[in-house]
Amino acid sequence: MQGGAVIARVLIDGPSELVFDYAVPVGLVVRAGCRVRIPLRRKSATGTVLALVEDVRRDFALRELESLIDPEPLITPVLLRTGAWIAEYYGCGIETVIRSLLPESVRSEENSAKTRRVAMLEAAPDPAVLEKLAKRAPRQHAILALLAHAPEMRLPVADLGDGSAAALKSMEKAGLLRLEAQQVRRDPEADGADEVLESPPLVLNGDQQRALEAVLASLQSPAPKPILLLGVTGSGKTEVYLQAAQQVIDMGKTVLVLVPEISLTPQTVRRFKARFASMQDQVAVLHSNLSQGERFDEWHRIRKGLARIVIGARSAVFAPLPDLGLILVDEEHENTYKQENVPRYHGRDVAVLRAAFEGCAIVLGSATPSLESWHNSQLGKYQLLRLDQRADGQKMPLVRVVDMRLEASKHKGGPAVLSDKLRVALEQRLEKGEQSILFLNRRGFARSLQCPQCGHVCQCPHCSVALTYHRTDERLVCHVCGHQSIVPRKCPECKDPAIVLQGYGTQKVEEIMAKVLPAAKIARIDADAMRRKHALRDTLNAFKSHKIDILIGTQMIAKGLHFPNVTLVGILNADLSLHVPDFRAGERTFQLITQVAGRAGRGDIEGEVIVQTFTPHSPSIQYARRHDFDGFSEQEMEFRRQFAFPPYAHCAVLTSRSNHERRAEFTLQTLHLRLAENLPPGIILGEVLPSPLIKAHGQFRFQITLRSQQARPLTRHVQAVLARTSLPEDVTVVFDMDALNFS
Ligand code: ADP
Ligand code: ZN
Repeated sequence: MQGGAVIARVLIDGPSELVFDYAVPVGLVVRAGCRVRIPLRRKSATGTVLALVEDVRRDFALRELESLIDPEPLITPVLLRTGAWIAEYYGCGIETVIRSLLPESVRSEENSAKTRRVAMLEAAPDPAVLEKLAKRAPRQHAILALLAHAPEMRLPVADLGDGSAAALKSMEKAGLLRLEAQQVRRDPEADGADEVLESPPLVLNGDQQRALEAVLASLQSPAPKPILLLGVTGSGKTEVYLQAAQQVIDMGKTVLVLVPEISLTPQTVRRFKARFASMQDQVAVLHSNLSQGERFDEWHRIRKGLARIVIGARSAVFAPLPDLGLILVDEEHENTYKQENVPRYHGRDVAVLRAAFEGCAIVLGSATPSLESWHNSQLGKYQLLRLDQRADGQKMPLVRVVDMRLEASKHKGGPAVLSDKLRVALEQRLEKGEQSILFLNRRGFARSLQCPQCGHVCQCPHCSVALTYHRTDERLVCHVCGHQSIVPRKCPECKDPAIVLQGYGTQKVEEIMAKVLPAAKIARIDADAMRRKHALRDTLNAFKSHKIDILIGTQMIAKGLHFPNVTLVGILNADLSLHVPDFRAGERTFQLITQVAGRAGRGDIEGEVIVQTFTPHSPSIQYARRHDFDGFSEQEMEFRRQFAFPPYAHCAVLTSRSNHERRAEFTLQTLHLRLAENLPPGIILGEVLPSPLIKAHGQFRFQITLRSQQARPLTRHVQAVLARTSLPEDVTVVFDMDALNFS
């Protein structure tokens, strides 16, 4: 920063999230993440330094910072470095990164440590004094006697009741005791909702032992390679995590555990709590529903090294753990690791980077790794470890595929929801007192056109993706290359006029099930049914204690659940996730079927999975049927390579949004023209297209996809163009690097 003075960009505390620049007075050492006092209008206010920037010419003088609140910044150097990387890689301002790096509850002046008044002894009381008080002031005597009993005790004043105030005051005056403020922790677990019993480590099987040893070896390395732990569902990955974490704790270091979503992975959280029950208060679980005060306390406990195991979702990747020894990323393939607003970082990728900066070990675990991580393991950037058998010696569940085209001909009229095979299987489980899970993937609004007779799905002739039906202009559009076609009146393949948009929801399924199996106790888990607080926990507990026979659910039940009495899993329409306009559709379908199927047969009885589909021969379904990740990845990687899709290229999406359709489109066309000028070599610039979700929240959306083998040149080029283009006021443009969501 030659010449010009340094300017501190400060995020002012308070709900309006104002950001102002201030001059740094000579002699004051300010760093990003420092808490500062600044002048604001005619008052003094507080804020956090987001970044130090170079001064620019301006026609007014900047005001100066008043003072530093704490000399030390709230952010550790490694996290600051991670933040800078995020800003550069994802093309966003460092201030937006720092903002998510430091939770609002930590930044804000409003929050501070909670304290209570306590009474404590100055010195052991003189027996003579005690005796005198016993007669003259019984209340004073009672308090003093209590304290004399345990001289180290700090007696909360509030516990003594209102009537004691005078007694305490006169004793303080007489020098018999001291009153002071003591910090109290707002403990999110204080309600004791989740009582856990200590669970001792299990004896590892050979594969687990080898995996653990590799992780332990990586703990010793100064610059360990990330580890990809590919273990089939129920192979005992969690047990490996737990034992590795124990070692790290024993080494005096700390552990960060990332899970896709806290509320959807209650069992994983519980297992960590149970294993580390003897150091329960050192385990911090960062829920999204912590109160501001609880979050403040947990953050500071972590920062001070008092909480040595931190479990949390995506944003926990920024937990300020000192002496980090190990990061565990469970279900690393999950999309929830990607943040869908600015900064649009991927929690797993940031974790890998943070581990590199910290020089600590990192394990990415999954039964169905993302092809990105898989590719890295094939390139030797990650070390691959495998667990190919279930830990308890059980077989993988038997997966049957039911061709719903044949079922459709039996059910005249409405859609066939339940095949005869699945219905019979459900009845059998009910008779035997075993439980079942029915899964319906209802995510995705953009629907594809499919023929109920032959199963034909309208696909783009140039790309391996389904065409999306656009209701507004009655067209089928390819969201990769822009190819358009008219909506056929009859199936292009078998000429049946019944070609329809596919789809039905979980509520409909519940309704049908109640009719078909009136004796069964049925519950539904989806976003609609789970609005009530604790609804998910209560329903899962009811299922666990077998108050429910059949659980119907969406993605919410696909992850990490372990119910030994579940012997049947039905997947109602495996096609729903297959024909979305996204090159990852096949990968997601494979992951979903494998994960959901993994819920079956986790007890002593072998599990069965019934997959209903209109496209029984699709590779995603066939490979999932055989639990064959290698087969699936081999053919899918070939497709990705041919079309230069991730992991062979980075794929970014530039989206424009506006209440005015034309303006959104026109803005993006202007950007497209500028992006095409001096396009760096190796970048594939897509066309301007309406987003699959053309209107959302009242806004019209258009998008361009860009692909490139190198991430940085792509981000830099887009940022440079954006920087010299002034956007119309009512148009927002969003850049999403390594986008996972193309809607
Ligand atoms: P994953 O995390 O790979 O899905 P889990 O860790 O949940 O697998 O293990 C599946 C089941 O096997 C759990 O009930 C777990 O207690 C059990 N298990 C794990 N490791 C062992 C072992 N070494 N011996 C016996 N049972 C084990
Ligand atoms: Zn196409």
